[in-house]
Amino acid sequence: MSGQGVPPAQGDDGPRPAGGDPAWARRRAMVAEQIERRGVRDPAVLAAMRTVPRHLFVPPALAGQAYDDRPLAIGHDQTISQPYVVAAMTEALAVGAGDRVLEIGTGSGYQAAVLAEVASEVHTIERVPELAASAAEHLARLRYDRVHVHVGDGWLGWSPAAPYDGIVVTCGGPRVPPALEAQLAPGRRLVMPVGGEGEVMELRVRERHLHDDGFDEWSLMPVRFVPFVTDEPSAGP
Ligand code: SAH
Repeated sequence: MSGQGVPPAQGDDGPRPAGGDPAWARRRAMVAEQIERRGVRDPAVLAAMRTVPRHLFVPPALAGQAYDDRPLAIGHDQTISQPYVVAAMTEALAVGAGDRVLEIGTGSGYQAAVLAEVASEVHTIERVPELAASAAEHLARLRYDRVHVHVGDGWLGWSPAAPYDGIVVTCGGPRVPPALEAQLAPGRRLVMPVGGEGEVMELRVRERHLHDDGFDEWSLMPVRFVPFVTDEPSAGP
């Protein structure tokens, strides 16, 4: 069952659930109108976006808006990203079955669930303990048991499970934390919104060279994200 994080068959969004799941039709429409139309093509990412029940990751009062084309408030001044941005970031990571992924900024746990659909193991770090606890609870209820939620400061990454085949940062800051570059496997990608607080940021993709310590870097699109908050002295100017 894809709810357990097993990557779905390429290009197959599965049979219609027996008994009728009204959210299923809303997710199909979301993928067609918001995500495919804007150019996301990776079949595994599209299947993941059709599979993960986004309405179960938002506060119950907002469940009716869960498939709208925008971010939503999840408490503690934080947001669950717009569905298209989640899909575009996941596609840009270029991860697949067998891969281990690190996410900074668990928030609701939704992006972590999407990552678990396309990759094999997900570590995700959240600095707000209450958000980490509720995300872990939602993920466990949906049997995403290959997602590991950690409370902490993502500036330092999560070294026990490094290196990662992909790292995605879902909060934005002026620069990429050096520890994250160090925890990325050769030839793999890190995706992060880069820019100053309150400004429009650039969604940057940084790919580690295979045979030296260099990186290639390019921009995907302008985005707005909640700030990367850290007390680490090494993050200072
Ligand atoms: N990926 C989330 C979106 C989360 S919003 C989702 O799918 O819902 C960004 C999150 O990053 C917030 O929950 C915020 O508390 C967290 N965050 C900000 N700075 C952080 C840091 N230094 N380490 C870990 N998490 C951080």
